[in-house]
Amino acid sequence: MAIKAVKGVKDILPADIGKWRAVERAAREQFARFGFKEIVLPIFEKTEVFTKGVGEETDIVQKEMYTFEDRGGESITLRPEGTASCVRAFIEHSMFHPPGTVTKLFYMGPMFRRERPQAGRFRQFYQIGAELFGSAEPEADADAIHLLHLFITAIKIKGPKLMLNSLGCEECRPPFKAALVDYLGARKEHLCEACQGRWERNPLRVFDCKVEKCQDVMKDAPTIDKHYCPACAEHFSKVEKRLTLLNIPFTVNPRMVRGLDYYTRTVFEVTAEGLGAQNSIAGGGRYDNLVKSSGGPQVPATGFAVGMERLMESIGGELEMESGAPDVYIVFMEEAADEVCRIAGELRQSGIKVERAYKPAGIKNQMGKAGNSGARFALILGADEMAKKTAVIKDMKTGEQSAAPLDAVAADISKKLH
Ligand SMILES: [Zn+2]
Ligand SMILES: [Zn+2]
Repeated sequence: MAIKAVKGVKDILPADIGKWRAVERAAREQFARFGFKEIVLPIFEKTEVFTKGVGEETDIVQKEMYTFEDRGGESITLRPEGTASCVRAFIEHSMFHPPGTVTKLFYMGPMFRRERPQAGRFRQFYQIGAELFGSAEPEADADAIHLLHLFITAIKIKGPKLMLNSLGCEECRPPFKAALVDYLGARKEHLCEACQGRWERNPLRVFDCKVEKCQDVMKDAPTIDKHYCPACAEHFSKVEKRLTLLNIPFTVNPRMVRGLDYYTRTVFEVTAEGLGAQNSIAGGGRYDNLVKSSGGPQVPATGFAVGMERLMESIGGELEMESGAPDVYIVFMEEAADEVCRIAGELRQSGIKVERAYKPAGIKNQMGKAGNSGARFALILGADEMAKKTAVIKDMKTGEQSAAPLDAVAADISKKLH
């Protein structure tokens, strides 16, 4: 019996990689426009990076992490998200020096969560993430959202919708939480089992509960927008104004709280059409206290992450992809093997993509393969050609053929391609 991949994990096959790389390329282009630099983070970290960074109370930490003791007895976790790692690296490498520095980072790569496998959810999944450290200004929130908006537009996401909210600050969130706890306390018997266990400690989480009776309870729950302190109200209205100036459509949703503990003020989420209930493709927000609570100085920050798998499913148009097709397919007879070796070598050394058989079958069979490969030219070295010390160059689009002396073939093809 052949061994199969672990449940909830999948291969990204060569047939899908063109689209995948096109998405990554579009992201890199937008990151460059906004001055974000790439950081490559480790795939595993000390477990505390996530228990502290993501939050003990979150589903991620409580139920979904791949945590194990390594051979030295240290608790290690495969990263379930990127922000906590990025914050760890930001602090470790003192990227906050000198004070007032703005640091813009992005990363791409696999994340790991042991979720129940279902449509569009994987246990190893890929994210593109961005973090902007060092600015508490609404301009920074607007920049992060604008970047995400341009990226999503560039890759032709179907029916994208941006939802926006502010979760307030340490001044205005506690009174809101207290009002919410009062409200939930009076209705606790109507909550699902999970929410009955968390409404007091973590009332905001009930907004995210997918159980219908909890959603019913939350319809009339108090919302944060009635509790903003003047500074939070001003910050949020400035973010809204900037998004309007940038022509970015959005909806304010005061019930959107996002699943993580570290957010402060602006949070946002992008959904796409045609994905069913799990329709969120990107999300993020401001986290002004996470750097400090992770052991660094007080540095405000904002960021977002995009989930590759769902993104790939919600692309609604053709993306410009790099062709995997060869430039030249060499069709030849055994007698020409030495010439083919030399010519293919010369072509590849000059940057041309070449495909060839290692053991040639009949000319007709090889011409079929040349056609299927999508090559721009077929280079033919049959018995006739060898006798005349020439090769035939066939343009696979027009069918036009020309002959060239063997020692001029590579130069000739180079010229035709450029
Ligand atoms: Zn506030
Ligand atoms: Zn619930």
